[in-house]
Amino acid sequence: LQKKVTGTDIPSAQYGGRHGVTMLPGGGIGPELMGYVREIFRYCGAPIDFEVIDIDPSTEGNDDLEYAITSIKRNGVALKGNIETKSQSLTEMSRNVAIRNELDLYVNVVHCKSYPGIPARHKDIDIVLIRQNTDGEYAMLEHESVRGVVESMKVVTVDNAERVARYAFEYARQNNRKRVTTIHKANIMKLSDGLFLEVANRVHKDYPELEHNNMIIDNTCMQAVSNPHQFDVMNMTNLYGTIVSNVICGLIGGAGLISGRNYGDHFAIFEPGTRNTGTAIAGKNIANPVAMINASIDMLNHLGHKEHAKVIYDATYHTIVNDAIRTPDLGGNHSSTDVVANILKILSAKRVN
Ligand code: ATP
Repeated sequence: LQKKVTGTDIPSAQYGGRHGVTMLPGGGIGPELMGYVREIFRYCGAPIDFEVIDIDPSTEGNDDLEYAITSIKRNGVALKGNIETKSQSLTEMSRNVAIRNELDLYVNVVHCKSYPGIPARHKDIDIVLIRQNTDGEYAMLEHESVRGVVESMKVVTVDNAERVARYAFEYARQNNRKRVTTIHKANIMKLSDGLFLEVANRVHKDYPELEHNNMIIDNTCMQAVSNPHQFDVMNMTNLYGTIVSNVICGLIGGAGLISGRNYGDHFAIFEPGTRNTGTAIAGKNIANPVAMINASIDMLNHLGHKEHAKVIYDATYHTIVNDAIRTPDLGGNHSSTDVVANILKILSAKRVN
């Protein structure tokens, strides 16, 4: 799909069948989660060589950031934790946003699928959230026009609205989905969200076999918590996308389970779906490692290492669903390392080399 929709091809940084991948651990729980991924990859012989780059959030300069972007451009692919933005300086933009913008990662995909038996507010959810990843309120163009009056620009462009809508419809077509719902607030933001909706309606004409409806963001949040099963594929602007992703990930088990994928025409970044830093739980051996492990599985699939992806997925699934080895966020009383040890135990029975 990436190749067809976004032009992304399997990256070329292969040496002896191995892939170089940039690893950006970020802050909070990021470094410990990356440690678990490396342990699992080592254990099952996943042919990935990580280039680890730590971005220090307390520095004002952008040297680390530029190094990270250069590395991703070289490798084509990154696995990423959340990078904190400590500085409140107006000139200091979020490094997470800067990376997505610089690499033109215009679409974010979060597949929210329930795990059986995991305590959750709704069962059997299977929704694909497709979010515009570079426009909207994240333009970070704010200024105080006169004292006490602050203006913030929300940018919607035809090109990016079209690229994300086309991705959503193409995803639905290729994955036998039935309906795309475009989320907006075009009743109030008539020009910006109006354009996003108008473009989605136009792109839909190329996909007549699919149903397309639209829903206002506030009603979407209410519908998501009361009747989430009505949603299939969602096409969203940047800010609505992050809100809805958090609501729906929350419905099926929280921040520690689901992964997110960011694609552009040339590069891809894999990360936990809700992009949390988890500063308060860092270093306590309680963070759920599953969302980052799922992100690493997405990355293996993207690179074509399907067999390694499958054994790690099966071992992780078995650990939390069948063996019920779960961290406290999922109602369990196991540690992060208990979860990883169980995954390794399962993998030891079926090594892939
Ligand atoms: P900040 O950047 O200030 O840390 P945030 O918006 O990134 O904030 P967090 O506070 O990091 O959000 O995360 C939101 C909630 O999700 C917190 O209660 C956090 O403990 C929880 N959380 C995030 N990731 C995980 C995880 N992997 N396992 C368990 N809980 C998690």
